Amino acid sequence: MTKKQWQHGSYYGYNKKGCKCDPCVEAGREYAETWRQRHLESRVLIHGRLVSTTLKIHGTCNGYTNFGCRCISCTAANTEAVLRNRRKKNDSKAAAGAQ
Ligand SMILES: [Zn+2]
Ligand SMILES: [Zn+2]
Repeated sequence: MTKKQWQHGSYYGYNKKGCKCDPCVEAGREYAETWRQRHLESRVLIHGRLVSTTLKIHGTCNGYTNFGCRCISCTAANTEAVLRNRRKKNDSKAAAGAQ
């Protein structure tokens, strides 16, 4: 019975083992940054908008936020999400007052 060897300060430790020690968190942060950078660099300018070429599904705020996609669908989805969050905040305030 051999356990898979892994080292701290690796994305594996952070992601698979859920380790929250400093080197692992740093590795996870770096991985996310590299991942994000790769997607941001793959964007192309279409009709004056930066559009992601790696994003599969457009029209989500994930596309807008994480992929940096600024196509009309993703921008609209993000705007909608921002408005919804604002409304939700107001709603919860109202609900808290009502209860
Ligand atoms: Zn660790
Ligand atoms: Zn998009």
